[in-house]
Parts: sequence; structure tokens; C-alpha cells
Amino acid sequence: MAAVGDHVSRHKAGDLVGVGCIVDSCQHCAECDEGLENYCDGMIGTYNAPTPDAPPGHTLGGYSQQLVVHERYVLKITHLEDQLAAVAPLLCAGITTYSPLRHWGAGPGKKVGVVGIGGLGHLGIKLAHAMGAHVVAFATSESKRTDAKALGADEVVVSRNPEEMAAHAKSFDFILNTVAAPHDLDAFLALLKRDGTMTLVGAPAAPHPSPNVFNFIMRRRSLAGSMIGGIPETQKMLDFCAEKGITADIEMIRAEEIEAAYERMLKGDVKCRFVMDIATI
Ligand SMILES: [Zn+2]
Repeated sequence: MAAVGDHVSRHKAGDLVGVGCIVDSCQHCAECDEGLENYCDGMIGTYNAPTPDAPPGHTLGGYSQQLVVHERYVLKITHLEDQLAAVAPLLCAGITTYSPLRHWGAGPGKKVGVVGIGGLGHLGIKLAHAMGAHVVAFATSESKRTDAKALGADEVVVSRNPEEMAAHAKSFDFILNTVAAPHDLDAFLALLKRDGTMTLVGAPAAPHPSPNVFNFIMRRRSLAGSMIGGIPETQKMLDFCAEKGITADIEMIRAEEIEAAYERMLKGDVKCRFVMDIATI
């Protein structure tokens, strides 16, 4: 942190801090009162959100050279300074997976599935494992089996293999689905036990095929969604990750590599998040 205003009490110049996906919200609605700024109608996102007060009229996210932000949206970082690049994705992908895992009670004695082993999913596996759940990772290919185990998965299921899927029928308490492409949700809903929930955090450009209603009716199952997390929970997530030694798996790139990195991201060829060093802009 470079400087603080006169009325700032939570942080001081020189502190190691971060700003996640949220730079402002209304601060007086029911959601803000509960620390769920992520669900405030007045939330201003850090990336490309309209801002009435200053040019260029929208936020610039991680491309910003400096951020001026209310102390409420500033998070304390307790990881080591040389881990900062790998901490940055925790502020988005980390809280996006941590919040639903906590909300739906991932922990000891719970069987938790994570669908997709990318930017979100790899953190979902690490976090669910650190919370003490029995973690099953769903991969689309045999080649990801070793990766998922290394991340902390107790078991790995190749979702294209019907026999492997059938072996887990009606057994999950919770499934975190991180896949951002339209796919057959029924294949995973059938794996939930009674009262189990599958929560979607991937945002596909086109809708998923509508799931079969009987998969819900027959075992009182739920399908849910979740978006990032509030500021207090983001701080809890960062502290939890620092305590457990969790960071994101990243590839650092220089500014001039952004086009090539973008093309690779579109093809899913990244392990697991690109982080750009803004000193190279
Ligand atoms: Zn609000």
C-alpha cells in the first residue's frame, strides 16, 4: 500500500495488501450489511465496470498502475512477498471456489466433487482438500489424473467413462462444477446423494442443456450458483490459504506475451492461471 487517507484505520502505508474483484458497493443494503458485497446491486467490479467519477469511465482491473479504493475493499496479505504473483488469482478464483465450499459445508466426513481442473477447479481441489473433505476430481482425460492427485484429490474420475461415473452414483454431499462450457448436468446430478447440491461457478456463453427434473425430485437434490464472495469471507480465504500454504498454480508472462497467452487460454492450454507482471507494461 502506497498511501492511506486521513480516515483510514484498517491499513497503513507499507502494508502488503490486495484488491480483489470488488472496488465499491452501496455499503447500506442488506447484502452489504452482511458483508456480501458481491451480491449488492451497486457492486462495482474491478474489471471493466462503469465508474461515473473518473476517466476513462470504467475500471481497468489488474492493468491499473494504481488503485484508489475505500479501505473496506482492501485485503490484508499474509503470504510471503515472493508469493504475490501466485496469491493474485486467489482474490478471484480462490474466493469463487472457497465461498461455495464453505457455504455448502465442505469438511471432514463430506464427499466433495470438483468438476474441471483449470483455473477455478485446481483451487477448488486444493481448498476442499485443506478443509478436510474427501475430494473426488472429475477430469475429461486420463492425462489429468496425475495432476489432480498432485493437487490433493483423493480420487479422480474420468467423466467420459460411464463405468467410473456409475461407481459414484448417489454418493456425493456436494459437487462444485467449475466448467464454463455447456455440458450434460444430469451426469453429475445423478452422483449426488439425497439432499446433495451441485453448485455452478463456471459461466458458459450458451446455456447448459436443461437437466432432467426427476434427478431433483427423486432425491430432493439442488442445483445452485455462486458468484465470487464478500469482502470478509475473501479475507478469511486469504488467511486460510496463508495458514495452509495454498497459492494458485501460475505461469508468469510479460506484457508483450499477452496475445499468445490469450490464444493459449482459449484452447485451454494453461497451467492453471496466467499472471502478467505489470512492471513489464
Ligand atoms: Zn449494497
